[in-house]
Amino acid sequence: MPNRGESDSRKLLGRLRDTLAAPGDGQARLDSIAHHIADSMGTQVCSIYLFRDPQTLELCATEGLRPESVHKTRLRLGEGLVGRVARTGRPLNTANAPAEPGFRFMPETGEEVFPSFLGVPIQRVGEKLGVVVVQSRAAREFTEDEIYGLEVVAMVLAEMAELGAFVGNDAQPSTHRFPAMIRGLAGQEGAAEGQVWLHEPRVVVTNPVGDDPDKERARLTEAMAMLRRSLDEMLSTNAMPKGEGAEVLETYRMFAQSRSWLRRMMDDIERGLSAEAAVEKEQLQTRARLEASPDPYLRDRLHDLDDLAHRLLRILTGQGRDTGAEMPPNPVLVARNIGPAELLDYGRRLRGVVLEEGSVGSHAAIVARALSIPLVIHATRITAEALNGDTILVDGDTGIVHLRPEESVAAAFRDKIAMQAAAQSRYADLRTLPATALCGCRVELHMNAGLMGDLPSLEGSGAEGVGLFRTELQFLTRTRVPRRDELAAMYRRVLDNAHGKPVVFRTLDIGSDKVLPYMKPQDEPNPAMGWRAIRVGLDKRGVLQMQLQALIRAAAGRELQVMFPFIAEESEFTQARAMLMHQLEREGAMGHALPSGIKVGAMLETPSLAFASPAFFRACDFVSIGGNDLKQFFFAADRENERVRRRYDTLSTPFVALLAQIVDRCTQAGVPLSFCGEDAGRPAEAATFAALGLRRLSMRPASVGPVKALIRRIDLCALRGLIDAARDEGACNLRPVVTEYLARASA
Ligand code: PEP
Ligand code: MG
Repeated sequence: MPNRGESDSRKLLGRLRDTLAAPGDGQARLDSIAHHIADSMGTQVCSIYLFRDPQTLELCATEGLRPESVHKTRLRLGEGLVGRVARTGRPLNTANAPAEPGFRFMPETGEEVFPSFLGVPIQRVGEKLGVVVVQSRAAREFTEDEIYGLEVVAMVLAEMAELGAFVGNDAQPSTHRFPAMIRGLAGQEGAAEGQVWLHEPRVVVTNPVGDDPDKERARLTEAMAMLRRSLDEMLSTNAMPKGEGAEVLETYRMFAQSRSWLRRMMDDIERGLSAEAAVEKEQLQTRARLEASPDPYLRDRLHDLDDLAHRLLRILTGQGRDTGAEMPPNPVLVARNIGPAELLDYGRRLRGVVLEEGSVGSHAAIVARALSIPLVIHATRITAEALNGDTILVDGDTGIVHLRPEESVAAAFRDKIAMQAAAQSRYADLRTLPATALCGCRVELHMNAGLMGDLPSLEGSGAEGVGLFRTELQFLTRTRVPRRDELAAMYRRVLDNAHGKPVVFRTLDIGSDKVLPYMKPQDEPNPAMGWRAIRVGLDKRGVLQMQLQALIRAAAGRELQVMFPFIAEESEFTQARAMLMHQLEREGAMGHALPSGIKVGAMLETPSLAFASPAFFRACDFVSIGGNDLKQFFFAADRENERVRRRYDTLSTPFVALLAQIVDRCTQAGVPLSFCGEDAGRPAEAATFAALGLRRLSMRPASVGPVKALIRRIDLCALRGLIDAARDEGACNLRPVVTEYLARASA
């Protein structure tokens, strides 16, 4: 038998639903809703405030306050009691409103005669929509039951607002109408303009009110069971990206099997909400609790909770990811996060990617880099702010995103894109020319790649070859280990598309920082320094052996260049090379055609290798400095940690001294040396490396043109002289001397 609170609540919700269904404009609906709420709750006042813009609340309807104040009375976010409710996202209940801290006297409303006040936020997940307030003449606090009742009503109002029920006659100001600037972090350089394409479109709840609680309860129970089944299935097939499976399962256990979560949703249904509105309401309230928790583990569960609620909502509403909407012509993907395989599916159609989470070293970032798509990460609230089709500007250099920009902002941005395009076309003239400096020193410029699709840019960029082909992506984007013949076919296509230009394949650099979906995750305290790259290859030989066989078969009759990542000591290189030689013998014995020549290199990514014996350097056919890793280990500064990753300068004297020493050691051993970290594509760094004697630089394709133009107008011997002099004089950092020289050379 439902109690009175429940049956009143259901009656009120029924009336709200009828209001939604009845013809009429937004203002008429809001007026009638305010009337019904006051009537049902037995209060003299009910007022509905909605956001006019992200900072301003406007009184949009009232029962009981002066009608003239509607659309006149406004409050800033955080101002007055209403502003406080909106800011905190929590109800405020008081018997004496004027005595509350922050109370703002609004004489135009005539509210001074109603001292008791209950305000409840109107919100959806990640989105503040407004505040609903009831007030009464009698000075009393509202009961728990009344607060609960108003929260249920607020949920229905939020869903109605989302459906556009209050639009018309200027009743509801739209929050998704205003320009927004979001400051995130640069993930991949470049600038793009396009239209938002949400990876996970927002679920629209069309029926926030449930007629029949039994039916809604059954729907929720069934949806929970389906959710459990689909999660079990996903976990058993390992179809989730790294780590996510375990975390979602854990969160699932925490919430889905938590009796209190279920019970609260059932209570909401009893009060008249539909199953989906109940899921949203509890998601909101559990979020608020988790956000306020001092326990970082619980706060980290927020996204898992969202993920779960989202899955439940999709089951309940039948709205999948595929909503039938058509992708706009210049899509910029907006997502909380995205796995590498999904990002690859979108591929080069995308103009840019903006993520709410992510990290520079994440798999998605690796793919975005391979696709050369501008990427911004840590763009707070972007998934709540953006709507499909909104105009969006992505600046991957600064990490700034403009949503629905003003025309002046868009125009300035377009100028920037046009300037970059013009610069690239100027570099196109240099495509076939060598990077020869004024002093006659010749520098080879190669490009880094990681996808088949990169190779067309080999021609366009003017690169002389592929100095680093990262082989992780083919492994990361599958749910099972790729087969040898698949890999061989892929590598063969890479070599075919290179049209005889050299390609250096780096064997798998995978480890606990880049866990493959089908690899058992190793819980390591410090994965970047853990069991990764060649360490895995030598300890668990199967995958590396298979990869080497695939490379040998792909290169049949052509030169094969292989380099092993993360060699920290000589013996690792010796063993890896022996493995390659053994596979060559084996392939030959099996009658497979062999490569016409083999070059085997080591990546120098740990400072230790710079101090290896002369015999090590002599044993290498080439050495390539993996500057990204070398720098992080030299300075002990995690390359993925935003706090420290830019803290130390590549051109600081100690790091340059290390590079100079490596150049000397390679020169003495007569072994070619290259540099293939991100720094090779930056002008001052590239010029310095070349001046130190590095004669091969490998970088992202878009950097080849600018670096070539730069090398061709400078004198590397002169620059070397300036660097040496500055070092002799005890300079701590060589950037000033290098940039000053480059500025003079460009003048
Ligand atoms: C490097 O460490 O510089 C490098 C090229 O390898 P990755 O960035 O793939 O670790
Ligand atoms: Mg590396």
